[in-house]
Amino acid sequence: MAENLERLKQRIPLLEYLQRHNWKPCRTGPRQEFVGLCPLHPETRPSFYVNAAKNLFYCHGCGRGGDLIRFIQLFLDLPFRQTVALLQQELTPAPVSRLLAETAAFYQFQLHRHPEGIRYLEQRGLHDPALIEEMGIGYAPGGNLRRHLATLGYSFELLLDSGLISSQGRDAFCRRVIFPCHQRGQIVNLYGRSIGAAFPHRLLPRSKGGLFAWESVSSFSTVILVEGLFDLAVLWQAGFRNTTCAIGTQLTPAQLFQLAEQPRRSVYIAFDQDYNQAGQTGSHQLAQRLQGVSIPTHIVQLPHGHDPNSYFVAGATAGDFTDCVERAK
Ligand SMILES: [Zn+2]
Repeated sequence: MAENLERLKQRIPLLEYLQRHNWKPCRTGPRQEFVGLCPLHPETRPSFYVNAAKNLFYCHGCGRGGDLIRFIQLFLDLPFRQTVALLQQELTPAPVSRLLAETAAFYQFQLHRHPEGIRYLEQRGLHDPALIEEMGIGYAPGGNLRRHLATLGYSFELLLDSGLISSQGRDAFCRRVIFPCHQRGQIVNLYGRSIGAAFPHRLLPRSKGGLFAWESVSSFSTVILVEGLFDLAVLWQAGFRNTTCAIGTQLTPAQLFQLAEQPRRSVYIAFDQDYNQAGQTGSHQLAQRLQGVSIPTHIVQLPHGHDPNSYFVAGATAGDFTDCVERAK
């Protein structure tokens, strides 16, 4: 075990891992020492030291330090075993991520062969073919994925391992509209929205990645945060390209860090206005967390019972939504 851990840490050097996750050292010290802002808490003066030769970090601000595994445990708030499993996954992403890309492309093609998929998108207010293409939205009719992937040479074990196929050999997604979830240019998961009676939301049992569409909003100083992918899609369609989505109302510490990355960024939370108050409670809890890391946060109030998606489906215009944003508390 100890030997395996050493090998794991050697194969993913700490400095390389941090830089891959957008950490930028602002100065370099002697003996391969790099200094920058601590990713574990908000700060303005760099106190996070990385020693590339020893493969260790130490922060003089929060007093925490250790190796790569310790860093990820703190950063993602994960137990030790899960952290090791996550790193092992990082080392072998290529075949699975190729498989997910292949699957997403297949589902995109299926969308045009199954009018029920297109009809469902129209019902949810999505009608711009260019946007549907850009987001890589597809349709899983169910029952034909396994054969397709087998003809491409993917082993049954890999299909099973990816979660795309159940142990009985059935497709995980059946009669679902599919959104690929990206992270750093790779597809890391697929989200399937049921168009029938099955449970509405489904993700493969893998990490869901960072904030959805983060790469395209990371330069904005004002970000609109929504709960669901259909909220994101209609807002993009209406021209609000500064919208991103966490698929749910909870943010991981890494996603919080992404939002806090740019100083003076403000966030507008536009979650569901549920009758049972769940969305409102989620908004307030998240607003408190964001304000805790000095991100000015506003809660967008939509007409009662609406989420951004249903609001646009009910006929709202971009101007109506802008009014809600301007009134946000
Ligand atoms: Zn620190």
